[in-house]
Amino acid sequence: MRLLLSRVTSFFFGGSCFLCRGAARAVICGDCDAELPRLTQPLCPRCALASPRGETCGRCLADPPPYDATIAALAYEFPADALIHALKFRGELALAPFLGSLLAQKVEDVDCIVPVPLSSERLRERGYNQSVEIARAIGRPIELDVCVRTRHTAAQIELPLADRGRNVRGAFLCARALDGRSVAVVDDVMTTGATLGEIAATLKAAGAARVTNWVVARTFPENAPPDV
Ligand SMILES: [Zn+2]
Ligand SMILES: [Zn+2]
Repeated sequence: MRLLLSRVTSFFFGGSCFLCRGAARAVICGDCDAELPRLTQPLCPRCALASPRGETCGRCLADPPPYDATIAALAYEFPADALIHALKFRGELALAPFLGSLLAQKVEDVDCIVPVPLSSERLRERGYNQSVEIARAIGRPIELDVCVRTRHTAAQIELPLADRGRNVRGAFLCARALDGRSVAVVDDVMTTGATLGEIAATLKAAGAARVTNWVVARTFPENAPPDV
């Protein structure tokens, strides 16, 4: 019955699942959707890493990051990594509304939504900014001119984790006074938090009262893959 139903659905909606190629009414089928590594366990509200009782973790207490909070929809594990990789490197822009909608279910109101900017070189090479596409899908106005990259940096994925902070230091500029505003910064994946930390520091220096990271997927240090 279920198979028949999915065939009928496929006939009417004509969709196939991005992951398993089975019939799907959305970008992915119900079975693959159920496999998504949604983050439902208690996390540190500031960095979105594991925290047994959902309290601010020891690392954030000892060395507070420039951002105030992090909201992540998924763990960066299969099949979430496959979806993000396809959006980021293979131009599968149809995945952005789906990934953005997962994030949209978890976020709260802010004054201003800022996607992590790409350098003009990278934007030219890729043709789009995946963070802008995800932010658009959240369905609220985004502001593209609040934060810009002042210089081209090596892609974080090409660097050892320890070098990523230095790579992005001073790489962003906020050209607008953000006096007392609360800002959400949208990115596809958060790994060390170096890029998001640098952006948050830049936005705070421009007067932002609160900066929250909105990321589709969070990498957990114990299983950080080499290609994030
Ligand atoms: Zn599927
Ligand atoms: Zn933390």
